[in-house]
Amino acid sequence: MAEIASTPSPAPLPLLIDGARRPAEVQETLPVIEPATGRTLALVPRGGEREVDLAVRAAARAFPAWRDVPVPERAQVLFRYKAVLEREWEALAISVARENGKLLDDARNEVRRGIEVVDFACGMPTLAQGRTALGIARGIDSHTWRVPIGPMAGICPFNFPAMIPLWMFPIAIAAGNTFVLKPSERTPLTGLRLAELFLEAGLPPGVLNVVHGAREAVDALLDHPLVRGVSFVGSEGVARHVYARAAASGKRVQAMAGAKNHLLVLPDADLDLTVAAVMGSAYGAAGQRCLAGSVLVPVGKAAEPLLERLSAQARATRVGDPFAEDSAMGPVIREDARARVRRYIEDGVREGATLLVDGRETGTAADGTFIGPTLFDRVSPDSALAREEIFGPLLASVRADTVEEAVALANRSRFGNAASVFTTSGRAAAYFRRNVEAGMIGVNVGVAAPMAFFPFAGWKSSFYGDLHATGEDAVRFYTETRVVIERW
Ligand code: NAD
Repeated sequence: MAEIASTPSPAPLPLLIDGARRPAEVQETLPVIEPATGRTLALVPRGGEREVDLAVRAAARAFPAWRDVPVPERAQVLFRYKAVLEREWEALAISVARENGKLLDDARNEVRRGIEVVDFACGMPTLAQGRTALGIARGIDSHTWRVPIGPMAGICPFNFPAMIPLWMFPIAIAAGNTFVLKPSERTPLTGLRLAELFLEAGLPPGVLNVVHGAREAVDALLDHPLVRGVSFVGSEGVARHVYARAAASGKRVQAMAGAKNHLLVLPDADLDLTVAAVMGSAYGAAGQRCLAGSVLVPVGKAAEPLLERLSAQARATRVGDPFAEDSAMGPVIREDARARVRRYIEDGVREGATLLVDGRETGTAADGTFIGPTLFDRVSPDSALAREEIFGPLLASVRADTVEEAVALANRSRFGNAASVFTTSGRAAAYFRRNVEAGMIGVNVGVAAPMAFFPFAGWKSSFYGDLHATGEDAVRFYTETRVVIERW
């Protein structure tokens, strides 16, 4: 509760409802803190049932007219949105870097990946086509249609303030639905801006609405009878809660959850390529990506040269201001995230793992929540370091003797978001691809991020639902299938 400010100043962020900014009715606010400086950037209202009801009702009112806009016309609004986003690319990246703390260049890439989803959604006239079977019986034809569903909701995490909202509402809206977006209360500025820019591109009022808040707003969305479907991205426990609660009221739901991604390195791997990819995977965005590698599995003789090179690079990593050209890593999101990483480091030391690089020694002077890259070797596969999601710049090495043992080790994880192998052996790569239990697989790629025209999500405890984010899965998630059988 210490984070809650009771006398808001400046004015709290507005909601976006029916095409207009309006203040939340709730008085309670949360500070939006710039992770690199500790400065309060804004106050975000801690919205609840009232704010959610206003937004959902606006989305429900806008639905019939938007559903009936011909899909090529809807696509034209998306094309205009794409042009506006290109114009605003740098400003959006600055907003992401400021409220999230990732490096400006990384933020630019994030916004680019988000714009690619809009590119994809522009193809809705083709993507939402059904199928026809003529003559299924004498004089009878049959068709499938993809029809919009109604008001949909999107609930987002802090770690991709632009890309994850953009996974959701462009596809939903292009498909003819209306939408209520709830950005993370820790990074709400970019999401709000993205929605305002869509209005600027000509989206009718009420088609996209924004509410702010935390747990109360989420639960109000999950329970609201007019919300037809929920797309969620966040941590495992909350994903499970969202999946169960939304399903209980008959909503369709996709919940992308936590991760513990394994990076397997074989002795025949190209060392330069592997070191660069592992560094980017484990420490990029300060380890705060659902696709970040967090367990390194060096196989046999791969361990010594690899860990030596990684240690040197991790130690030399410049941690600092996300806007400085020479920074290689920014802060973690909040003090509680830094404290969590520190706790895991202490646990690892206590359990006897070898601490090769200690991030507690780096970058702690400034007011921001900085913590440097940390590297452990000889971590027990049963330890918390090897099994739990830490979501910070900490890489735990668990050694294996063979590729089979390494894959078995990865498969012991309850998560199955992503996994990568580094090797020059086609045979080993094929074994890995076939046997590892994860939804997104990298071969000599450290961050196996599917592009917008492919589905994005993991397996096991990393995902609750059926249809993944983006790609064809998203088109199916945001449409209902109707079968028409006709005789003339
Ligand atoms: P989070 O679970 O704390 O928050 C996500 C959303 O849930 C926020 O909008 C928040 O307001 C809401 N929320 C938080 N606690 C809640 C509760 N008790 N009840 C109802 N709603 C609640 O996640 P985060 O820290 O913002 O994001 C990091 C997490 O997201 C990591 O676990 C990461 O792996 C995961 N993630 C997964 C993917 C993926 O594709 N699988 C992508 C990005 C992030």
